[in-house]
Amino acid sequence: MKLNKLGNTGLEVSRLGLGGIPFQYISHKESNEIIQAAHARGVNLFYTSRMYRDSENKIGLAVKDFRDKVVLGTSTHKRKKVDGRRDIEQSLRNFGADFIDIYSLHNVLTLKVLREIMSPGGAYQELEEMRNAGYIRHVGISAHQPETILKALEIAAFDVVEFPLNFVDREATAGLLEEVRSLGVGFVSIKPMVFGYAASASLALRYVFGAGPDATVVGTYNTDELDENLAVEAAGGDAAGEEIVDVIAASERGCYKVFCRRCETCVPCPKGIDIKKALRLYEYFDRYHSWEWAREQYAALSPRLSACDNCGLCERECSYHIPIKRQFSLARVDLLPRRSPRRLIQKKIIGS
Ligand code: SF4
Ligand code: SF4
Repeated sequence: MKLNKLGNTGLEVSRLGLGGIPFQYISHKESNEIIQAAHARGVNLFYTSRMYRDSENKIGLAVKDFRDKVVLGTSTHKRKKVDGRRDIEQSLRNFGADFIDIYSLHNVLTLKVLREIMSPGGAYQELEEMRNAGYIRHVGISAHQPETILKALEIAAFDVVEFPLNFVDREATAGLLEEVRSLGVGFVSIKPMVFGYAASASLALRYVFGAGPDATVVGTYNTDELDENLAVEAAGGDAAGEEIVDVIAASERGCYKVFCRRCETCVPCPKGIDIKKALRLYEYFDRYHSWEWAREQYAALSPRLSACDNCGLCERECSYHIPIKRQFSLARVDLLPRRSPRRLIQKKIIGS
């Protein structure tokens, strides 16, 4: 397993890390098995979020005998200082750890959210204080837009960024890795499988290794998937990313064309629909099979998709030409509780 320096943090991380999303859907026993097998084969980076239910507990329990040999990362999606503190304290309890190596602000989608987090009383202040007190070693930020990351690095001392560096977004993110690296900030790539939209998980992962972030975290539901990912890593994965783009494009059959990048150029919807949230819920339903969670969240969405009159404005504005109306017509049916998700059970669950 290749180890990389994580920016100027002083940490050395395995370039293949494990992401925590799947652990919330599988048992303690299964998580243990995956985490311990990964560690035995050189994986030392385990990354999750407070959002991913009991994933911190599962990771903490699995690594308790070798805590000093691993790098634990997690994140809060809270925006206010007081809520951020609660999350950090909860994460420490969940992991059963005295400190957490990397604590991040999760999914900072827009500059507006960034301003909120950085304002007095915002969550960043709490992370800094906890870093100074030694409960957190490094502060990170995850985002999906390059400009949010670059602005964040301009105004605050983040140690690590987490960003989706994958073949779908390669044009929009060109140059970002080099810029982040020039500032001495660690770069962890997330969502290498493009939310499960990659038809070939190994090609998608190979692309990311070729692009060369310090580490890539991959969600893994079982040890077979872990083996596949480890095999890609062991094969080198150092080919220049662009060399395999054509191969990937040929294998994709266009499925990633429905993947929302959360850029928000489609807003506002005249009917007030939260377009990116609705698309996200459907991604979680359709790709991650988080049926219950997605339906619960959808029940709280206001207005619901029934308010959509198919005006088409969002599709005309969407920078990525996503067939939003078509996705919404599927989501409108699937996200209602009355429909059995059993027809989907046979679909393969793909890592993040
Ligand atoms: S098509 Fe529906 S979601 Fe899109 S802008 Fe029109 S009303 Fe809103
Ligand atoms: S639907 Fe299109 S424009 Fe809207 S957030 Fe998603 S990718 Fe961006």
